[in-house]
Amino acid sequence: QTAAFRTDLSSLLDLVGTGKESLSFMKRRMRRLASQWGMAAQRLHAKLRQRWREQKKILVHVGFLTEESGDVFSPKVLKGGPLGEMVQWADILTALHVLGHNLKISMSVKELYLGVPPGRGSCPLTGPLPFDLIYTDYHGMQQMKQHMGLSLKRHKCHIRVIDTFGTEPAYNHEDYATLHGYRTNWGYWNLNSRQYMTMFPHTPDNSFMGFVSEELNDTEKSSIMRNKVNNMAVVYGKEASMWKGKEGFLQILHRYMEVHGTVYYETQRPPEVPAYVKNHGLLPQHELQTLLRKAKLFIGFGFPYEGPAPLEAIANGCIYLQPKFHPPHSSLNHEFFRGKPTSREVSSQHPYAEQYIGRPHVMTVDYNNSQEFDSAIREIMSTKVEPYLPYEYTCEGMLERVHAYIQHQVGSPLLASQEGQSCVEACQRANLVCEPALFRFVNNREALRGLEVQCEVVEAEVNHVFPAFSVLRRECGLQKDPLLYSCAGLSPKYRRLCPCRDYRRGQVALCRDCL
Ligand code: UDP
Repeated sequence: QTAAFRTDLSSLLDLVGTGKESLSFMKRRMRRLASQWGMAAQRLHAKLRQRWREQKKILVHVGFLTEESGDVFSPKVLKGGPLGEMVQWADILTALHVLGHNLKISMSVKELYLGVPPGRGSCPLTGPLPFDLIYTDYHGMQQMKQHMGLSLKRHKCHIRVIDTFGTEPAYNHEDYATLHGYRTNWGYWNLNSRQYMTMFPHTPDNSFMGFVSEELNDTEKSSIMRNKVNNMAVVYGKEASMWKGKEGFLQILHRYMEVHGTVYYETQRPPEVPAYVKNHGLLPQHELQTLLRKAKLFIGFGFPYEGPAPLEAIANGCIYLQPKFHPPHSSLNHEFFRGKPTSREVSSQHPYAEQYIGRPHVMTVDYNNSQEFDSAIREIMSTKVEPYLPYEYTCEGMLERVHAYIQHQVGSPLLASQEGQSCVEACQRANLVCEPALFRFVNNREALRGLEVQCEVVEAEVNHVFPAFSVLRRECGLQKDPLLYSCAGLSPKYRRLCPCRDYRRGQVALCRDCL
């Protein structure tokens, strides 16, 4: 079945359902950005020049929004709780829908059973998988493990884990993590590390999923630049606790600028927010955008880390000022990151803004040096900047990326050859071609387990047909010398592990979507 671009979101909005503030938030966002997605779809459609795309059956199981995981988020949507995740899930759902895939959305463990009540009858997820791909999060992984049991292992390669801060290989690899002290509560799922999809491009070990921000045309850009209020600042922080202990900086800031906030409050001004701050309360997303269009400065005080808001501010022509962290924050020295499956060192509140955007849109300074802080503010007031949004955070950029992931990452299966058959032949039989660059991903016990091979012994040897297994002797062999990875090799004693990929007709050296 062919996937055809969709520019109308109404069937997606129906699919998302109702009844929770988190769902309403996502739907409002989808509606607001609908025309932007539509235009991006048309552009990507033209760019791909009729290239055939397969329609995938995709399950999106949003674990953190399930009652079974406690759904602590939904009640916080209107109270300044973390909205970044909601932003990202809304955009993932929209991208998959716009790309024309066949979606099922699940927000409870019950729905995982596709209508078959737990305990009675069989769970379809324990049989052959009715989906080509499953997008979920760590909560969802846990739930699927509980409910699918061992069959989860078999279906593992179909899973994509949406994981804001990322998971490093050392934490993902169960045996290695156990031996070397990298085990965390989030688990050691033995996935291919590329199956973890992050909010920002933290490391190429994981896949970068991202989200989108508002896009402006030239007319809007110049009108924004004309109407900027040079002494207007908006503080990054929708929860009062994010303002705690920041009086000193606020005082300096207030010397030069009018300070605005969007801090959630119930009846009274939170004590952490000084009286001279113009607090708008938590704003609906589109009103926040309007505020950002007027403001010159968007200022972070160190928390929250790595959210969408700074990109939105920069996209609306603000300069983002943020603290540099000396020493960098990480799971080794900061409570927030403790127990997260990464040792990544976070060098400022928003390292992506610091490293990939930088001046003049982003200034990262040492806040402990009040002179540096002071002069940064004065510089910002006199600097003119244009609204800026990196391509990878536009709708087209996200569609292009998700399209490539879906068509590639599924397009490279692992096959077992017959005895006496080479990988060249085994892949060919499946209309694919053997890809030596992928041997390193299948030269492991996990791959053997994935094919449900019975191994009494697993040995690493220098043998040009390895990785391979002998059914008769229940022996499995991994390749010790990567120089010997061979598509051509064959042996009557062994069935080989063959990494295959798709190819272009008439240009077999390249995979279908490699250009
Ligand atoms: N946001 C909002 N109203 C506000 C402040 C923020 O709708 O008053 C939205 C904002 O547009 C952004 C999202 O909240 O897309 C997440 O913001 P943040 O960067 O603070 O990330 P978080 O820590 O919530 O994940």
